[in-house]
Amino acid sequence: MNDIAHNLAQVRNKISAAATGCGRASEEVTLLAVSKTKPASAIAEAIDAGQRMFGENYVQEGVEKIRHFREKGTADLQWHFIGPLQSNKSRLVAEHFDWCHTVDRLRIASRLSEQRPAEMPPLNVLIQINISDENSKSGIALEELDQLADQVAALPGLTLRGLMAIPAPESDYDRQFAVARQMAVAFEALKTRFPTVDTLSLGMTDDMAAAIAAGSTMVRIGTAIFGARDYTQ
Ligand SMILES: *Cc1c(COP(=O)(O)O)cnc(C)c1O
Repeated sequence: MNDIAHNLAQVRNKISAAATGCGRASEEVTLLAVSKTKPASAIAEAIDAGQRMFGENYVQEGVEKIRHFREKGTADLQWHFIGPLQSNKSRLVAEHFDWCHTVDRLRIASRLSEQRPAEMPPLNVLIQINISDENSKSGIALEELDQLADQVAALPGLTLRGLMAIPAPESDYDRQFAVARQMAVAFEALKTRFPTVDTLSLGMTDDMAAAIAAGSTMVRIGTAIFGARDYTQ
């Protein structure tokens, strides 16, 4: 078994342990493998180990990888855009990705909807909430959620699937859990309003267990699968 296959198996075990440890079924939690900065060869190893869902942060890099695997004829892959999205890059996301996790304003949502090709299914979107990181400019406050959710749900090129957050880094489990619970409460409320909502994207390598205990349905894991990232190149 190569490193990536080994790491993936370990991450899947951790997800199962965290889920069953709090009385949830492990199938309730989807693993999104975050492959930003990693080469297509690393993604190919993960695919060989059974992984199908990948998250990318940079539009151009993600589109190149999507094209690469499409040309190779690899079927069933699902690509999630999880990085900050600028208006001038929205078309590439609308035309290539299956999901976008970082919708935080109507203007971007409208562009994605208009630019989604008619022959593709609606783009699955999550609304990003700024739950705890005062330094981050991404995401809306929870108080703004009801209004933006109504607007996004009305756009024909999009399907509102739920919420996403990137909490401020925090090493204490109880504090990780407290923040994650705020997201889970907002997610449960949103679910009662929109039947398409089924996804809470929350939890990374260092806070995965707390996120799952709080109610996350999708964890975004990079480092624990692909190793540390090198940003110097
Ligand atoms: C990079 C990134 C991840 C993965 O983080 P790790 O700590 O490497 O698991 C998850 N979500 C987002 C939005 C990211 O940018």
